[in-house]
Amino acid sequence: MIRINELQLPLDHPPEALRQAIAMRLKISDTELLDFTVFKRSYDARKKNSEITFVYIIDVSVTDEEKVLERLADDRNIRVSPDTGYYPVGQAPEGLNERPLVIGFGPCGLFAALTLAQMGFKPIVLERGRDVRSRTKDTWALWRKKVLSPESNVQFGEGGAGLFSDGKLYSQIKDPKFYGRKVMHEFVRAGAPEEIMFVSKPHIGTFRLTGVVSTMREEIKALDGEVRFDSRVVDFIIEDGRIQGVRLADGEEIRSRYVVLALGHSSRDTFRVLHERGVYIEAKPFAVGFRIEHPQSLIDQARLGKYAGHPELGAADYKLVYHAKNGRAVYSFCMCPGGTVVAATSEPGRVVTNGMSQYSRNERNANAGIVVGINPEEDFPGGPLAGVELQERLESHAFELGGSDYCAPGQLVGDFIRGRASSEFGEVEPSYKPGVRLGDLAPSLPGYVIEAIREALPAFGKQIRGFDRPDAILTGIETRTSSPVRIKRDNENLQSVNTRGLYPAGEGAGYAGGILSAGVDGIKVAEAVATAMLADLQG
Ligand code: FAD
Repeated sequence: MIRINELQLPLDHPPEALRQAIAMRLKISDTELLDFTVFKRSYDARKKNSEITFVYIIDVSVTDEEKVLERLADDRNIRVSPDTGYYPVGQAPEGLNERPLVIGFGPCGLFAALTLAQMGFKPIVLERGRDVRSRTKDTWALWRKKVLSPESNVQFGEGGAGLFSDGKLYSQIKDPKFYGRKVMHEFVRAGAPEEIMFVSKPHIGTFRLTGVVSTMREEIKALDGEVRFDSRVVDFIIEDGRIQGVRLADGEEIRSRYVVLALGHSSRDTFRVLHERGVYIEAKPFAVGFRIEHPQSLIDQARLGKYAGHPELGAADYKLVYHAKNGRAVYSFCMCPGGTVVAATSEPGRVVTNGMSQYSRNERNANAGIVVGINPEEDFPGGPLAGVELQERLESHAFELGGSDYCAPGQLVGDFIRGRASSEFGEVEPSYKPGVRLGDLAPSLPGYVIEAIREALPAFGKQIRGFDRPDAILTGIETRTSSPVRIKRDNENLQSVNTRGLYPAGEGAGYAGGILSAGVDGIKVAEAVATAMLADLQG
């Protein structure tokens, strides 16, 4: 296969124009062009007043590949396509009686379990929350009726934290082995739209993601894996520095010397147990801030100009960074075009925000976290769990500021910048359910965070006109941007640095940040488990 990079075509080009453009670029006739696939399609909207074009990366089969490559050897955008296929690292022998455990069934646990099941290792998944269907009802109960289920909510349950999300599937991770392609491929096999394989910023959206996740669970089961819901791991059996199994909340003990720890960033009770049992954990940086909401049309206009609303482009997104005078970096986080702000707590008496959307991204508002990076050395010294404790304190205070009934505290951007409490909404209506109580957000976060965000908003307004409009809404607070801990692992064998057989993975362990990277980490860890199990069998 030959790969063509940087093939540009107008936004509204007819489908057949692509084939013609490929033949022209390779200087071949239509009959010499056997087949092609779009590897990636992006568009560049940075220069707003010029035409927006699609930029393609294409893989092509031709009748005489060598001849074409030789003829175009000087063209740096034409090369042999890399092999992006996935090849398992091994196969479990028949009759293997030890089964690996996977704790957590978010994207990381899902891909760890699927990959292990595909290699014949028959994993047992232990998930504290409930299955997709029951979990959806439980989650809506908080949003609609202010009733929280501590074991089944936005953070906990089948699909993990990524289930009620925007389902953005892109990441900045280095991926030389193309594990990200496997993640996308498995999602598509399970019912995700095919375009996620090639659009540059793919997303699935909440509704479709739920179907995809339950299809993948059925595949794991069909491969003799087991997926157990309502199965909270409350203790770890560790002997002579090696994991031997886990204990569940109902007292059941499950033995295994291979345990994948794919907990997510909100399993604070489990972090505490791991720490008590001596598993090495350290505090790590994360970020805190607010969610901001604007009309989506404002973002579309600012980003796409005359192309705003173009059906091929969809709702526009943004990514913003500002370095404040107090040395803090303020940045946009998990931007959700045409989405809603959601109540994302997993604990009673706490308020925390996040954002989600459906595949169509056609809600009225755009939202994003506007957050400030904080770190253990400067901002929360005091041991491995100091970040967890800080999050807990901030979220409890936000609950009180919101009126102690799961409504979130909020403020209009104009008032926030001027330092006065808000009492009335303007044109922008907040989407957070169960509701937003207006007031003053300044007491909800440390002073340096407030100061940095106050300075950043007008600066963002220079990049996106109207971003600092007075009636844009800030809803508080955003604290679960990434894990406040790292459960450190060895770079080579991916096992905990002091507990053999324990494989810290995904976002909660500090090795991923987002659905795609968590899925990729799940695959890597599954490979490490399979390799270790096969080696132990031989040795
Ligand atoms: P998680 O998804 O958090 O899964 C961990 C699982 O472990 C949970 O299901 C939990 O119940 C289970 N668990 C924890 N402790 C135990 C225990 N003791 N016993 C048994 N089970 C346990 N990322 C993106 O890339 N794109 C987005 O658009 C996006 N939007 C988001 C929107 C929202 C509302 C939220 C909350 C997050 C969003 N994210 C998004 C982040 C993304 O969801 C996470 O990065 C990702 O889910 C992390 O995957 P994970 O598998 O490591 O952990």
